[in-house]
Amino acid sequence: MGCSPSEGGAGVLSQLLEKPQAFQKIADAALDICHFKQEKESCINACYECLLSYRNQFDHAIINRKSIKPWLDLLLESSVYYVETISREEQYQQLRQKTDPDSEFERVVLSEIYQLGYKLPDTAQELIPEGNCKPDFIYKEAQIAIFCDGSVHDSPERRKQDGIERDNLRYNTSYTVLTLQHDDNWQARLAILASL
Ligand SMILES: [Zn+2]
Repeated sequence: MGCSPSEGGAGVLSQLLEKPQAFQKIADAALDICHFKQEKESCINACYECLLSYRNQFDHAIINRKSIKPWLDLLLESSVYYVETISREEQYQQLRQKTDPDSEFERVVLSEIYQLGYKLPDTAQELIPEGNCKPDFIYKEAQIAIFCDGSVHDSPERRKQDGIERDNLRYNTSYTVLTLQHDDNWQARLAILASL
């Protein structure tokens, strides 16, 4: 039986990423090999059944199975998370696709945020259930909801309806409401995003 760290090779890393429990299995096997599951009294620091081999013979004096026990115990409780990262350009394109097809102004605003180098919103057109409304863009961590009012929002009835909806969001959540009107100096209002 051998437990050389050089065993394995290509594909092992990707297998670890695909199977979140894989690290635990490895730790469990290593604990077994190093006699922690069943004590072997004759093995003080290491023996040829656990960590010693001819390849590491010059290091035998310093190899001690007990020194890796705390790490293996930690691994037993670990799992692997693979966090997908996407580029800023990809994130921009994904957000663009989620905008309302009828609202060119939303895409103008998004493009401005992108061009200015500000942090991009987390989502577009996503419902905030507690507020029962769907802002055009939201920053989840900073709790900022952006509404882009193109010309269809100009009518008095629509303004009234928008006002109720956004007051409701303010009242029921801790979101900061940022309303951008197409005929207003909305670019200046984006400065709030500079600190994100
Ligand atoms: Zn041993």
